[in-house]
Amino acid sequence: MVKEFKALSIPMEKAIFHIFPEYCKGCGLCKEKCPNDVLRWSDRLGLYGTPAVEPKDEESCIACMICEMVCPDCAIYIERKPKRKAKGL
Ligand code: SF4
Ligand code: SF4
Repeated sequence: MVKEFKALSIPMEKAIFHIFPEYCKGCGLCKEKCPNDVLRWSDRLGLYGTPAVEPKDEESCIACMICEMVCPDCAIYIERKPKRKAKGL
């Protein structure tokens, strides 16, 4: 039998923030290391019954991927959106 872990995918201005709540152990490392204080605790429970993280808003994430890199349990995947080209270029 194969267990599927479903991601919550939250579209933001510069990226799509994917979180796998069933992997999140609520350690808070991503929250602590995010340079723009984008993340907060959500109502969704994670691995140990502790809250999983979610972005506070759509604008403040700069898609730096630090949260993804520091998460010890691979619970976050940042899917960067392609950069928009300036008009006339
Ligand atoms: S670093 Fe990973 S496990 Fe820790 S709170 Fe953030 S998403 Fe959850
Ligand atoms: S990608 Fe960077 S700015 Fe966006 S939530 Fe993660 S750490 Fe914060």
